[in-house]
Amino acid sequence: MHANILVLPGDGIGPEVTAAGVAVLRSVAERYGHDFHFEEQLIGGAAIDATGQPLPDATLQAAQRADAVLLGAVGGPKWSDPNAKVRPEQGLLAIRKALGLFANVRPVKPHSATLGASPIKAHLLQGVDLIVVRELTGGIYFGDKTRSNSDASDLCRYSVAEIERVVRHAAQLARSRSGKLTSVDKANVLETSRLWRDVTTRVVRDEFPDVQLEHQLVDSMAMHLLAKPRAYDVIVTENMFGDILTDEASMLAGSLGLLPSASLGAGTNGIYEPIHGSAPDIAGRGIANPYATILSAALLLRHSLGLEAEAQCVEKSVAEALDAGVFTADLTTTQPAASTHAATDAVLARMDLACAAVALRD
Ligand code: NAD
Repeated sequence: MHANILVLPGDGIGPEVTAAGVAVLRSVAERYGHDFHFEEQLIGGAAIDATGQPLPDATLQAAQRADAVLLGAVGGPKWSDPNAKVRPEQGLLAIRKALGLFANVRPVKPHSATLGASPIKAHLLQGVDLIVVRELTGGIYFGDKTRSNSDASDLCRYSVAEIERVVRHAAQLARSRSGKLTSVDKANVLETSRLWRDVTTRVVRDEFPDVQLEHQLVDSMAMHLLAKPRAYDVIVTENMFGDILTDEASMLAGSLGLLPSASLGAGTNGIYEPIHGSAPDIAGRGIANPYATILSAALLLRHSLGLEAEAQCVEKSVAEALDAGVFTADLTTTQPAASTHAATDAVLARMDLACAAVALRD
């Protein structure tokens, strides 16, 4: 198939990890006979430096033309003044909103070889395989803001339609897995959460009667996620709760460097990015963990291009590199660490066998 893939390296380690993702996608194209066309544009701090804008028009237009977007990360100390008029994260929020990407999907499946890298006890992590679906374009992050010398406010607002579409997305996902959906809110205190709960209950009852829905308050969810993570399959929640819970969930996997994400909307275009930031503390040293970005490329193959076997091949290749003990510095303190290049090469080197195994499984 032919596909236009927009690459937005961004800042810090972004260029290092997106290069790894592109190398793997090129290898997939070669193996399976696809024609992937890559275009690169600026976003975040790099875009502010070059154009004064975190999301230049050329980037937005390229994203709207593309079949999928692979993004590194944005931000860094150079642009971190919270009072600055333009900030790198504005580029991210704006591109998600412009593309109508309302569901951020973050799978968390700790790998057996890296259980030791998590601060959580290994026996609690075995068998964990959950997906958090976070609402991405509504809620308190996008509501009106006020600030005076004596106070400040952030408005949290949700419409029925905004809740319905993300709940449908999550329920569909739950249906394709174990059929279990957990909706997280704060309905004992917040009006937006009471609406969230009512709409979720109705959508699942009327449209997904085969899906088993439970409601969980966000404070107890924060606790249960660490105490019994195996109990969850698909979790759906609003923007800010999802932001916090997904960072917490990342600790189950041991390192931010292992977790991919997909931001999806009603169509097939999506933005695929590791959940970590631009890691300015290690940028430019060639030691960043590329696995999260490579796994994000697998999500791109699956969700935007509909290439399931190719996605599984990439995921299997990463799993086998981890099985073989190819660990970057964030994953080990006891053995010599692999560089970004070495970890990427370890994945590429396993693709022949992994793709063949996936083909046999099908
Ligand atoms: P971070 O995720 O960049 O880094 C947190 C820690 O994890 C650091 O010690 C870093 O070295 C390590 N780390 C992260 N990714 C890694 C990888 N792939 N391999 C090895 N180690 C890795 O979070 P932060 O330090 O809070 O933020 C740094 C900058 O990134 C800030 O400007 C922040 O605003 C931005 N940020 C961007 C995004 C995004 O682009 N989506 C997300 C979070 C933070």
